[in-house]
Amino acid sequence: METIDAAVIGAGAVGLAVARALALGGRDVVVLEAADAIGTETSSRSSEVIHAGIYYPPGSAKARLCVAGKQALYRYCAERGVPHRNCGKLIVATAADQVPRLARLRAQAQANGVLDLRELTGAEAAALEPELRCVAALLSPSTGILDSHAYMLALQGDAEARGAVVVLRSPVAGGRVADGGIELDVGGAGPMRLRARAVVNSAGLHAQRLAAGIAGFPRGHVPPTYYAKGNYYSLAGRAPFAHLVYPMPNQAGLGVHVTIDLGGQARFGPDVEWIERIDYRVDPRRADGFYAAIREYWPGLRDGRLQPAYAGIRPKIVGPDAPAADFLIQGPAEHGVPGLVNLFGIESPGITASLAIADEVVGRL
Ligand SMILES: Cc1cc2nc3c(=O)[nH]c(=O)nc-3n(C[C@H](O)[C@H](O)[C@H](O)COP(=O)(O)OP(=O)(O)OC[C@H]3O[C@@H](n4cnc5c(N)ncnc54)[C@H](O)[C@@H]3O)c2cc1C
Repeated sequence: METIDAAVIGAGAVGLAVARALALGGRDVVVLEAADAIGTETSSRSSEVIHAGIYYPPGSAKARLCVAGKQALYRYCAERGVPHRNCGKLIVATAADQVPRLARLRAQAQANGVLDLRELTGAEAAALEPELRCVAALLSPSTGILDSHAYMLALQGDAEARGAVVVLRSPVAGGRVADGGIELDVGGAGPMRLRARAVVNSAGLHAQRLAAGIAGFPRGHVPPTYYAKGNYYSLAGRAPFAHLVYPMPNQAGLGVHVTIDLGGQARFGPDVEWIERIDYRVDPRRADGFYAAIREYWPGLRDGRLQPAYAGIRPKIVGPDAPAADFLIQGPAEHGVPGLVNLFGIESPGITASLAIADEVVGRL
């Protein structure tokens, strides 16, 4: 059986960032990816927003890694020529009773180290975005957008330049804890068994199933799996806003917000639809529920302008009735298996946080 130094399972944005960090640290890395291309799951089905770090509870891994990751990501995009734009974002209060929540969000953001938020009156917000209707807003200058695929290609390029190998069509079917490492059963056209001294489980939606399939891994450390789909609807025609615009967050998520891509196309979503099975089809009828929510802050939306676009699925570790969970980054200190790091529940802001998550994983190994 071939013994390798480090295996990263999954070539999404997070797995590739981890592979890059390990390779830059001098480790020999093999990335095992089930699909026939990098980033075909959650990492290519996101809003492509560089999040500021506003919404997460102070002290959480999401808050810490989002803020650190955002700074690292802006630097990285600039250095490596990854298309991105620091377009800023408005969080809008559309009724007077929502205004106190803006102040609470600002205080929470400050506790997270996001110090640049500005409170705007409705008139100041309308001066920035003439089509917007709100009574007050928070401006987040450090929010931006990026080309997530170009980002992943840059990460892959860096990792490969330091000797890492990305092996496509190589699903890891299971494995076992062994002396001096973890054995992995790799399927695909040429099935093989590998022993790796270090393994990073970055399998996204499948991370729990993968961990449960490693014999000798304590099952009590595998969290439950839930999927929360997010559907997007694109806007036919010109984007109404230059900033990203978000309503007040609610219990189900961030509300029906508008993001723009680097090509200037606007899209609304993602909503929250709890599902049992992975299914990326977007039901055109769900758009009906979007119109009223969007008109709260953009009264100019005309009927028929929303078209089904795409969907992504959030890898959740708690169900619909529980408060949102934190990222669960489990190393040997947590589960007791030397050389293994599991990444569970890496939902938003996973792309923003990816470079910081990678540093954290290297530390755990
Ligand atoms: C609707 C939505 C919107 C989002 N918007 C944003 C946003 O605007 N900004 C932001 O920062 N974050 C956002 N996120 C979060 C972000 O997309 C994720 O956190 C991030 O993409 C996760 O990357 P990953 O590498 O962990 O997972 P993935 O991209 O899912 O990669 C996992 C990879 O593992 C592979 N794999 C799975 N099982 C196996 C196996 N057994 N063997 C080998 N390979 C395997 C898969 O094929 C896949 O390529 C959003 C998420 C969703 C769902």
